[in-house]
Amino acid sequence: MKILVINCGSSSLKYQVLNMEDHSLLCKGLVERIAADGSVLTHTKIGLDEKKKVEAPMADHTAAISYVLEALVDPKFGVVASMDEIGAVGHRVLHGGEAFTASTLVTPEVEAAIEDCIPLGPLHNPANLMGIRACQGLMPNTPQVAVFDTAFHQSMPAESFIYPLPYEYYEKYHVRRYGFHGTSHRYITLRAAAMLGKKPEETSIISCHLGNGSSLCAVKNGKCYDTSMGLTPLEGLEMGTRCGDIDPAAVPFIAEREGLSFKDMDTIMNKKSGLLGVSGVSGDARDVEEAANAGNYRAQLALDIFTHRVKHYIGAYIAEMNGVDAIVFTAGIGENSITSRENICRDMEALGIKIDPEKNKVRGRECVISADDSPVKILLIPTNEELMIAMDTYDIVTGK
Ligand code: AMP
Repeated sequence: MKILVINCGSSSLKYQVLNMEDHSLLCKGLVERIAADGSVLTHTKIGLDEKKKVEAPMADHTAAISYVLEALVDPKFGVVASMDEIGAVGHRVLHGGEAFTASTLVTPEVEAAIEDCIPLGPLHNPANLMGIRACQGLMPNTPQVAVFDTAFHQSMPAESFIYPLPYEYYEKYHVRRYGFHGTSHRYITLRAAAMLGKKPEETSIISCHLGNGSSLCAVKNGKCYDTSMGLTPLEGLEMGTRCGDIDPAAVPFIAEREGLSFKDMDTIMNKKSGLLGVSGVSGDARDVEEAANAGNYRAQLALDIFTHRVKHYIGAYIAEMNGVDAIVFTAGIGENSITSRENICRDMEALGIKIDPEKNKVRGRECVISADDSPVKILLIPTNEELMIAMDTYDIVTGK
């Protein structure tokens, strides 16, 4: 069976088609500037160097997806003879609130529940729903599956997810820790268990998803026990442009002095902080590393804060779980930044973590990078959220 995976943003859309017989990627693409001037689709068929580019007005997600479907059956760039070959569509959905603990077939009730979660994911959930509805319109006989970024984290115990605020805000507004990157952390858990030769339900790891957005996940016996992102993806680590954990009292303190609104502060914390805010150079880790190597003090400081915060959470999660089998690095920084991994794992022998600097000289491939005598294994696993979405979609539509 071939599965189409769709990840809709408010003005963009990413897609892949995977062959579930061998989990191979057949094609992938990106539509940008949906509902704006200059809409463009870029489609890549795996194995072909030449890309298909479509520049045409795309007034909404339905228009964009109709161009995607055209590309999929294109005689040169396509991967199916007709759309009947696509067995199902898997959609990434950001927020499933407390309603979804796993991926699910889309029904009218599921759509309504995704809609109910819009206040929790105001930018993403409406776009995710547009993608689902566009596919329903264009492929009415093809099952649609929703895969939630938050679902994996629903196994957290209350002490991990309840904020020590007046309890009524949890009851009235569902203010709590939800956590994100759940599809990535779940994929990492499955791959780590396979690499360790253990069953997922017997595997305890700390999954470090370090990218533009970063989160750590404490996985105890295959299930999420704690995670660093919270009600929104702002909490936790220092990120490209997000501040992560700060004293909440800093928000009114700065707002008062600068005459800023809550909305202004939200923008500052999400878009102008993190690596960008501290370094003043960039929110992109590569640029910041380059500036730090050239002697820029604030760029080095931004990276040192990043390292410090990741260590902080690793220590906390080892304490919470009474030890782990492995620390796993994934996503853009985790997969590619040799120095970040080395700095994070330095001086952690007391916790049983010992990196092998030679084995660590690697990028973007599944491997063990800990020293042979390290009690806690250190793994590098490239994440593959699209494959996880396709696997869930396949299992749901085939009843496995
Ligand atoms: P992601 O959000 O997973 O795509 O990750 C993007 C982040 O990974 C950006 O901050 C990139 O600068 C960072 N990244 C990608 N390649 C490297 C590299 N070779 N060294 C350091 N950071 C990298």
